[in-house]
Amino acid sequence: GIEIIELTHPDDRTVSQEARERLARNEVSSYRLEKRYLRPDGTVVWAALSVSVVRDLEGNAMYMIGQLEDITDRKALADRLAYEAAHDAMTGLSNRSSFTERVTQALDRRQRNRMVAVLFIDLDHFKLVNDSLGHALGDELVVTVAQRLRSAIRPGDVIARFGGDEFVVLCDNLGGVEAVSALAERLLAAVAEPITLTTDEVFVTASIGIAVSDGDTTAETLLRHADAAMYQAKNDGRARAIVFEPDRHGSAMTALRTGTDLHRSLERDELVVHYQPIVTLRTGRVIGFEALVRWNHPERGLLGPDEFIHFAEETGLIVPIGAWVLETACRQTARWQALRDAEVSAPPLVINVNLSPRQLAEPTLASTVARIIAATGIDAASLCLELTENALMQNVESTIEALRALRNMGLHLSIDDFGTGYSSLSYLKRFPVEALKIDRSFIDGLGREPEDTSIVEAIVTLAHALGLTAVAEGLETETQLEALRTIGCDYAQGYLLGYPLPADAVGDHPADDLTTWHTKPAGAV
Ligand code: C2E
Ligand code: CA
Ligand code: CA
Repeated sequence: GIEIIELTHPDDRTVSQEARERLARNEVSSYRLEKRYLRPDGTVVWAALSVSVVRDLEGNAMYMIGQLEDITDRKALADRLAYEAAHDAMTGLSNRSSFTERVTQALDRRQRNRMVAVLFIDLDHFKLVNDSLGHALGDELVVTVAQRLRSAIRPGDVIARFGGDEFVVLCDNLGGVEAVSALAERLLAAVAEPITLTTDEVFVTASIGIAVSDGDTTAETLLRHADAAMYQAKNDGRARAIVFEPDRHGSAMTALRTGTDLHRSLERDELVVHYQPIVTLRTGRVIGFEALVRWNHPERGLLGPDEFIHFAEETGLIVPIGAWVLETACRQTARWQALRDAEVSAPPLVINVNLSPRQLAEPTLASTVARIIAATGIDAASLCLELTENALMQNVESTIEALRALRNMGLHLSIDDFGTGYSSLSYLKRFPVEALKIDRSFIDGLGREPEDTSIVEAIVTLAHALGLTAVAEGLETETQLEALRTIGCDYAQGYLLGYPLPADAVGDHPADDLTTWHTKPAGAV
């Protein structure tokens, strides 16, 4: 016959025996244990075992009661959940959280004179490839790249996917930087090999940023440095690896970080559009919204445009970002029009979208706008683009041409922040615009400061003389509202009337009176 202990999995025999002995020695009166048994065919059964001892009045053990429950399924589920929590489902590589943990461990047990390195790998132009291939093939590409990277690393290195086309590798216990550089070259070569997908053969390259630590640092810092170096590799022409150097990157770090992050904010779906109501002063009705972009930054929280638009301008990222805002706002407005305007007897909601000087200078602007109008199904007449005076004055003749092309598509144009720039009356007449938005610096003292009041009065008069409508922005007080009504300004926008809100806070049926707009909601910027 076989001993009962032999049914127990060899690795669990010691703990099982110890527990029984403690019971026998009367150190405990019961125990509970999760342990493995072996079936005759060698497969494992997980069991929860509870044992207690029953004693007579003198305290002598009479017998034991054991209860055994098969928990194999529960264990399998727990294992699977633990695995899923630590891995990326698509590629089977580690995910961000387990990778960061591994980096922390590596830094903690780093030995003297040894280094820890992190490589940040990002495919070049992946969004383009993904959009042209379609998402199914895009996924296939990511999985193939993951396999290639995995077979190019050294045993003991850890590889993870951070989502999208971002991969990271951890190298532990390095003698010098040369070893990492050699690895980076291997990774670049592995990605650059032609990739055969189900229906296509594609060529991709990657950019790699490397950060090495031989002192005290945190996993977060190491990752951030590798990320910054990767961004530098992109800037230097892509398809290359760059080692992070504090001297080169130190001072430019913050800017570079914003750049790195902003660069991927679109792919990561971190940008959001908030909508601020625009009201007809004559009736108090909401005629539409201005779309205002915000950035839901993973670490810094919800950022207003003032914190990143100038950066987007400098780097040119405003072009794709602006197109995204336009498309998002048009799609949302078309949705509101379909849901609300059918039921309410009001004119269709309009949407105002800001256009940066950089976008205006793009030769492809008109075709981009046309594509977005077609794709979202919005009526061009419901769209109004806002441009600042200074944007218009940058290159007057070509600007007028660009504006005509837009007007010919049936959309509307207005001049934003009016009064702060230096447009001359003669130009104003030649721009095919229909509205002036009076800058909020003049609205500030309205009804209080005689000077502001006369300026606003003058702008409204000017607008009407030119056949344009006047819009006041930054309206915050009842006094200002009174003054605007007296002056005869056409439209207004401001916290008094409504804060910019995310679309889901506006709801499916935006109210056209102001009762629902007055309170500042949580999360408004
Ligand atoms: P803007 O076009 O003049 O937009 C109006 C700004 O005034 C918004 O700030 C809005 O939230 C704020 N505002 C509205 N009512 C009031 C009020 O009663 N009092 C005060 N003090 N402020 C009020 P926000 O959203 O921070 O936008 C700042 C600027 O960023 C915008 O000024 C615009 O120039 C730019 N911007 C926003 N979204 C975009 C975009 O999608 N593309 C481009 N190119 N620029 C954008
Ligand atoms: Ca604006
Ligand atoms: Ca403005």
